[in-house]
Amino acid sequence: FKFEETDINSLVEKTLQPMRHAHARDFILEGNGSVVVVTDAEKLRQLLFILLDNARKYSEREIKTTISKNETSISIAVTDYGNGIPKEALPHIFDRFYRVHEDRNRKTGGTGLGLAIAKELADGLGAELNIESSVGVGTTFRIIMPKKQILTDF
Ligand code: ATP
Repeated sequence: FKFEETDINSLVEKTLQPMRHAHARDFILEGNGSVVVVTDAEKLRQLLFILLDNARKYSEREIKTTISKNETSISIAVTDYGNGIPKEALPHIFDRFYRVHEDRNRKTGGTGLGLAIAKELADGLGAELNIESSVGVGTTFRIIMPKKQILTDF
């Protein structure tokens, strides 16, 4: 990992832009103001891409990315309005080769490796990776970076 000063808004925008071109879908960005953190920009971009690509695969509506900050952290949340993940599946979601309902997922393909890699990337970045999901409503994955990595003032 190579840590450097990274402007989060422009990193997120750079990740979203090619996805807007590749897929007929709204990729919305919420939260403004520039926030600079010390992170590995390329690894963070890969992590964000995995979450966005899943959101796209497992939902059909718009996908919302929200940047927010509080006293202790800055977070990037990816929200979709898709099927959601059943409660009993949540403890396994970061396991290698785990996929919820192989039947449901057959049409989307995939190996079940994406989130295992996402978790490794988050660990390497010193970030937390949280999930909130409810079946029939949708899913939010949140990357939370600790305050010590933030360079701009609150
Ligand atoms: P790939 O290796 O191509 O990423 P995958 O998408 O199946 O394949 P993961 O990214 O690890 O693998 O995701 C594991 C499983 O978690 C998926 O198969 C899917 O069932 C579920 N999942 C992940 N993200 C979402 C989401 N946003 N909404 C609903 N289910 C999801």
